[in-house]
Amino acid sequence: MSAYWSDFVKTLDPYVPGEQPKQTDLIKLNTNESPFAPSPAVLEAIRQATADQLRLYPSPESDRLRTAVGRYYDLPADHVFPGNGSDEVLAHLFLSLFRHRGQQILFPDISYSFYPVYCRLYDIDYQNVPLADDFSVRLQDYLAVPPESVCAVIFPNPNAPTGIALKRAEIEQLLIQRPQWVIAVDEAYVDFGAESCVPLIKKYKNLVVLQTLSKSRSLAGLRVGFALGQPELLEGLVRVKNSFNSYPVDRLAEAGAIAAFEDQAYFEQTTGEVIATRDALTEALQKLGFVVLPSKANFVFISHPRHDAAQLLAALRANAILVRHFRHPRISSFLRVTIGTKKQCETLIKSLSEIVS
Ligand SMILES: *Cc1c(COP(=O)(O)O)cnc(C)c1O
Repeated sequence: MSAYWSDFVKTLDPYVPGEQPKQTDLIKLNTNESPFAPSPAVLEAIRQATADQLRLYPSPESDRLRTAVGRYYDLPADHVFPGNGSDEVLAHLFLSLFRHRGQQILFPDISYSFYPVYCRLYDIDYQNVPLADDFSVRLQDYLAVPPESVCAVIFPNPNAPTGIALKRAEIEQLLIQRPQWVIAVDEAYVDFGAESCVPLIKKYKNLVVLQTLSKSRSLAGLRVGFALGQPELLEGLVRVKNSFNSYPVDRLAEAGAIAAFEDQAYFEQTTGEVIATRDALTEALQKLGFVVLPSKANFVFISHPRHDAAQLLAALRANAILVRHFRHPRISSFLRVTIGTKKQCETLIKSLSEIVS
């Protein structure tokens, strides 16, 4: 702590991302990245964008990217708000739509741990709604909160780090019953088998959906995410963005992101492989005695009745395998394991079978 820090900075409690090790021979299953390279078309598009355009600022509103994402989802470009990773889009969302004096936002007790960090950064009051005993998000519990005390709800679907997904029809009920709330659905993992709420956007002006290219499109290093919603709502995010950074998506990121959305075959092949590997890994883990929550994401959340999660984490680490453990008391007996390649998952199973036997 420095004497030069503002009092406000002293109060912050920043997000701690999963480890990005310098050592390259580790099996890295700790931050939900894709085990596959991005589409070759993405790399080619980035290469071409380096030619003679980099001296120029990019499009401030990423017009070509908004058009490409809009075309993909059958939405006009003005329904798309891109940013430098969906974390940045989330930050703008919190500041522009969630900061209402005298009202709270709601999100699950077990959820993306960046949400409370933004609440503190922007001085937003929040209330955690506990997951059900089976770790699912129970939307009736949100409807039980006095509606006038709330301005918004946010949750990932599938949820993180559980991997459990809600059905679109359940979320639609919340949209119908609470038209005065903003309902933000963080779909970082939706492409691995859950139902997206994007088809509801034209119908509900209180819905905002967030997506990222970091997981299902193998581009965590490029930093591109976006929000989808009706233009009037998104205009609030644009106002915040233009009060912060006019050019959040650089030229290389925009070119690569567009190419990723245009290579549907590669997307289907890689996400399909992750899903198949997840299902095989789930079965193998269950054979070793693990409880595996039903996942629609590119990770599984697992617990072993006879082995302490922190000790398993350390034992795997000693075998050069990284997974993620969270200290929150309700989930401290769980590990979150990203779906790697088939071969990486086989190595994981081999290692775990030695550890737990
Ligand atoms: C990974 C993740 C994000 C952030 O994605 P970026 O686009 O890489 O910033 C947002 N929400 C959830 C739930 C995530 O797991």
